[in-house]
Amino acid sequence: MKDHEWLPLVPIRSGQGVWLEDFSGKRYLDAISSWWVNLFGHCNPRINAALKRQLDTLEHVLLAGFSHEPAVTLAERLVSLAPAGLERCFYGDSGSSAIEIAIKMSYHYWWNKGLFRKRRFVTLSNSYHGETLGALAVGDVSLYKDTYQPLLMDVITVPSPDCYYRAEGETCAQYSERRFALMEDTLARHADTISAVLVEPLVQCAGGMRMYDPVYLHMLRTACDRYQIHLIADEIAVGFGRTGTLFACGQAGIRPDFLCLSKGLTGGYLPLSAVLTTGEIYQAFYADYQQLKAFLHSHSYTGNPLACRAALASLDIFTEDNVIEANYQLAATMMEAAAPLAAHPHVAEVRQRGMILAIEMVKEKESRTPYPWQERRGLAVYRYALERGVLLRPLGNVVYFMPPYVITKEEISFLVEVAREGINLATNT
Ligand SMILES: *Cc1c(COP(=O)(O)O)cnc(C)c1O
Repeated sequence: MKDHEWLPLVPIRSGQGVWLEDFSGKRYLDAISSWWVNLFGHCNPRINAALKRQLDTLEHVLLAGFSHEPAVTLAERLVSLAPAGLERCFYGDSGSSAIEIAIKMSYHYWWNKGLFRKRRFVTLSNSYHGETLGALAVGDVSLYKDTYQPLLMDVITVPSPDCYYRAEGETCAQYSERRFALMEDTLARHADTISAVLVEPLVQCAGGMRMYDPVYLHMLRTACDRYQIHLIADEIAVGFGRTGTLFACGQAGIRPDFLCLSKGLTGGYLPLSAVLTTGEIYQAFYADYQQLKAFLHSHSYTGNPLACRAALASLDIFTEDNVIEANYQLAATMMEAAAPLAAHPHVAEVRQRGMILAIEMVKEKESRTPYPWQERRGLAVYRYALERGVLLRPLGNVVYFMPPYVITKEEISFLVEVAREGINLATNT
């Protein structure tokens, strides 16, 4: 709040496509999809129309003992789109709640099976899974976590396969594969007490858009099967086309035991999350009431009809506009425009996975020495971009683009130009 003495908040009056407009009429290109939620632009006419119809039909009803069409249709659609074998859908109202649901359900599954010792969770270093206590515990971004450490459950943290740290001459795949040895070792040693491993497939977003190779997911799936451990895929940020495929798990050809979805799920309109899981896990809870095996977890707005309707309208756009294929071109355009930045004296790496592109600013290029966080170089980029009419919100020293899929080639050029100038300014180049 104190920052805002010199960095005024930006009140937004309206939105249209990739653009946000403030009360003076100044426009800002939303290059980060309003924190990774928006897929098809602000005030998308098709999603708006679907929502207006839903609003005049049913705004909300409890999802206990009752049901409604958008919740059922959406669950069926998600099941048909997700990796085969994920056939059950549980709704929550935020990404964090989806993580809480997945970890509770994983633990409870083993409990129902009589394996009471399986209650620990394995997470990757630099991972992010949300802010509520359970989700915070399985994450590893110290800025958000350290203060609350005494309140959090104990987890096992395994070093990430983050390819930023690959050796010279080593490919990302080789590095990710090599790093898997650390995971394998942990799983082998603690298999009988581990409930699940959680990962953000392919991109650790909040951790600075750090990327790794699909081979890691493939090896993780195999190991989880071998050691009887659940695999929880947190696709809250990377789902719905961000990495180039509808779900990131698709690039490794794997099926997690739990798939957590939120953010882009509703096209960025309303809070909703979904946890997809297998018939096998569902069956472990299916019992007579007196056996007390049920998964008792609910949120007041679970499966809200308006949110489900927005999600259905967003999924319709994916099919009608062949979005995943159209995005290949957009992703290529983004890389073409941003690639020259790799030669910048204070840029260590320009990396991309599908519709996510990140530029890592460093103090010293050869040794990859980062700028001290206290210098807030990313904030300088943010301020410059705002002035120029672009909403960029670097994560520390990492400037990244995660735009809505309705961005045009010209808007991409503009975006990259502003980012380049902002980086020059922030690094005194
Ligand atoms: C944003 C995010 C979450 C948390 O979602 P909220 O809706 O903010 O609670 C969890 N996991 C990942 C990977 C995220 O990016």
